[in-house]
Amino acid sequence: GTMASNATIKAIESSTVHQIQSGQVIVDLCSVAKELVENSIDAGATSIEVRFKNQGLDAIEVQDNGYGISSENYESIALKHYTSKLSTYDDLSTLQTFGFRGEALSSLSALSRFSIVTCTAQDAPRATKLEFETSGKLKGTSVVSGQRGTTVFVEELFRSLPVRRRELERNIKREWGKVIGLLNQYACIQTGIKFTVSQQPTKGKRMVLFSTKGNPTTRDNIINVFGVKTMNALIAMDLRLELQPTNGLAKKGKAVEVGNTTEVRVVGHVSRPAHGEGRQTPDRQMLYVNGRPCGLPQFTKVFNEVYRSYNASQSPFIFANIQLDTHLYDVNVSPDKRTILLHDQGQMLDNLRESLVELFETQDVTIPVAQTQ
Ligand code: ADP
Ligand code: MG
Repeated sequence: GTMASNATIKAIESSTVHQIQSGQVIVDLCSVAKELVENSIDAGATSIEVRFKNQGLDAIEVQDNGYGISSENYESIALKHYTSKLSTYDDLSTLQTFGFRGEALSSLSALSRFSIVTCTAQDAPRATKLEFETSGKLKGTSVVSGQRGTTVFVEELFRSLPVRRRELERNIKREWGKVIGLLNQYACIQTGIKFTVSQQPTKGKRMVLFSTKGNPTTRDNIINVFGVKTMNALIAMDLRLELQPTNGLAKKGKAVEVGNTTEVRVVGHVSRPAHGEGRQTPDRQMLYVNGRPCGLPQFTKVFNEVYRSYNASQSPFIFANIQLDTHLYDVNVSPDKRTILLHDQGQMLDNLRESLVELFETQDVTIPVAQTQ
């Protein structure tokens, strides 16, 4: 760089550090939707409504009917690394909740006009509106009416990071597609939760984009989101991958052991490999690790390759939840938790390829199979 070599080294102001780090947790529209929806799921919600204004450029609101936030936590809720979900490093490997870093709300308060309306069962119908400073410090509270649950308001995302804001505006079409895709993913995997996603243009009426009904099965969720026609072209999948122990992991007795092997299940739905059953574009390929939506390009690749050996002109619809012991992966790789490190991924992929071939081999590709599950 051009900085003088004799410049004094000094600590960055803490508010600046907060801005910089927040921009790494909340990188785009998807991060906002992901963090807020996951908080709602963690709060035991059975109904989650995501409302966009101007595709999220003006506002994103997420309303749930979960536990709510009790008044003793108002002060700390948006402070960095304050979480009700994790207290020691050891808890990390057994964690059942989506959140654990206590960074999302703190980051959002640094990057947007951020407020919360929340209400616990005891306090209903007396809800509290919480407003925050950019540091995450509580600025003020006021009483409003409401039901049990929490609504988080994020307005003018990235108002404090002008370059990021312009990027978002410029790429809004692509970002919008991604965020709806991600919300589709949550809506399909979460049984027992009613999802509603709506959008209101700057001028015009609010429209519901899709919704689920709190169904007991992922099959019904997929029907709500993608339609019965899509569902009818799918086959149920429940692959069991037997992993041979390759290092100390299994020996430590931490992993789920089946004899000497570790079982990983891949459960969900995939296109029947007959012509006309897949799609021309692979925009509906949803992978999860223990219900956590994540990008697993290597897994997607195996699905696509095996599928194309039966149906060369199309890509499959994939809805695949990889179920495995929490000791076999690490979600704490990046602040946005999108990257997942899987233990012995190579063996899983080889195994997946074989199991998929087996599944497709047992399908009569000429006759539509009766509905499964
Ligand atoms: P994390 O999810 O990692 O704990 P967050 O910054 O996302 O961190 O949230 C901080 C805390 O705020 C959570 O631990 C939880 O106690 C509370 N919280 C956030 N969202 C909700 C919600 N929708 N309902 C109830 N409590 C919530
Ligand atoms: Mg969270």
